[in-house]
Amino acid sequence: MKKIFAKIWGLIVLFIVVTIVFMYVLTDYLYEQLYVEDTEASMIEVGDKLQTKYKGGKVTDALIAEIEDYNTYSNLDVFAVRNPRELSACVPFEIDYDTLIGPNERQHLLQGESVTKIGYEERFQRQIISVIFPLVDQNRLEGIIYIYYPLAKITELANEEVLLLIGSAIIFSCILAAFVYQGIKHILRPLKELQSAVEKMSNGEYSTRVNVSSKDEMGKLSEAFNEMAAAIEREDDQQKTFLATVSHELRTPISYVKGYGEAIQKNYIEGKEREQAMNLIVREAERMERLTNELLELVRGSNENTAVEFYPIVLSETVREAIRLLKNQADSKDIHFVTSFDEQIIVEGNEEKLKQIFINVIENAIRYSNNDSKISILTKMMKDNAVIEITDQGIGIPDKDLPHITERFYRVKKARSRADGGSGLGLSIVEQLVKQHKGNLTIQSEVGKGTKVTINIPMMEEL
Ligand code: ADP
Repeated sequence: MKKIFAKIWGLIVLFIVVTIVFMYVLTDYLYEQLYVEDTEASMIEVGDKLQTKYKGGKVTDALIAEIEDYNTYSNLDVFAVRNPRELSACVPFEIDYDTLIGPNERQHLLQGESVTKIGYEERFQRQIISVIFPLVDQNRLEGIIYIYYPLAKITELANEEVLLLIGSAIIFSCILAAFVYQGIKHILRPLKELQSAVEKMSNGEYSTRVNVSSKDEMGKLSEAFNEMAAAIEREDDQQKTFLATVSHELRTPISYVKGYGEAIQKNYIEGKEREQAMNLIVREAERMERLTNELLELVRGSNENTAVEFYPIVLSETVREAIRLLKNQADSKDIHFVTSFDEQIIVEGNEEKLKQIFINVIENAIRYSNNDSKISILTKMMKDNAVIEITDQGIGIPDKDLPHITERFYRVKKARSRADGGSGLGLSIVEQLVKQHKGNLTIQSEVGKGTKVTINIPMMEEL
């Protein structure tokens, strides 16, 4: 956090420095443009007027006096000389004639144009601007008017008001910096809160939430964090419940097996009772086997990385195979199957997984049907889907339970379905496998009348 703070702070300082540098350059430019140009313009104006006093011929002393008289009521220094070399004697600083009026300047002067010079003068410790005006007669330079003015330094231009302005600007900048400092701290506070919340989450404190105090990006981030934390907490709760249920489900058969096993081992039970106990042990062991297999199936199915091989499958054959495997179970309850298959239906799927779907659903139909009843199994095409309907005349499912029966370990009547060998995982597995086949599962049921399970699976696309 300190780093971000330093970066933002640095950025603002950089911004201020750049602004100051820019202002300095701008002021310098304005000084040049406005002050210097303005001075030159007024010097030229004066020079032009003084030039008009010369009417040609020799430059007389009277003319020189008349021109220099201007000095008495102007802050410009004006000199008129016949020979520019005499200038050095007039002005209070050194003038190098050759640099002042070189061949170029001479050319301009002969054409009647003025020449402007700006140079630093050691004696005054400042820049001096001078303009030379020619007094020309018949292409002869009879004399010059020389006007000069020591330019004020930029610091001298800054009068008291300006200093006051700079002072207050500095104070204002300091106050502003303090506000900016507090502002950055305020903006970064939720980020800090988020950072410590993330640390708490990684330590397993999934109930951690952060305050959402704004609607900006930071607020959205906080909201997203809270949603993520809630999802992780939910998942963690589900995981815990799942583990608790699994251990509970395994504990019952284990205690049966252990109890009856010990009784047999210590010869506490004899004869028929002993045989019954052995049957019970086998039944419970089978239940555990089934439960662990189903759990494995669920875990495998929920692992999205597990690659399942899909290939074209003739649906009716797979359904027939499932029925064949459950024939004995159905016969033992005098339940008969009524089937109607569309032999043309080919789906893209995994045979083992599809068989597992049908076995689970048909087994439920047998398990929750009364003796001597009928189970109808039908396959048909509907648009691009293969539809499989399994309808029984069993006990049915109450409306309040219907939305939950595909949840893990959910059983309508725990005692009955357990006695029937049900674990409450069958339909969760079916739902997961149907999803893997990009299909969907719907269950309609009426208590006392029966249940209809409908499975839709997309048909194989024709090549
Ligand atoms: P189980 O292994 O207990 O059958 P399932 O997940 O397959 O678990 O089914 C969940 C519950 O839904 C069952 O315990 C049962 O109460 C109810 N159920 C499922 N199929 C039927 C059905 N065909 N008729 C009546 N109830 C059913």
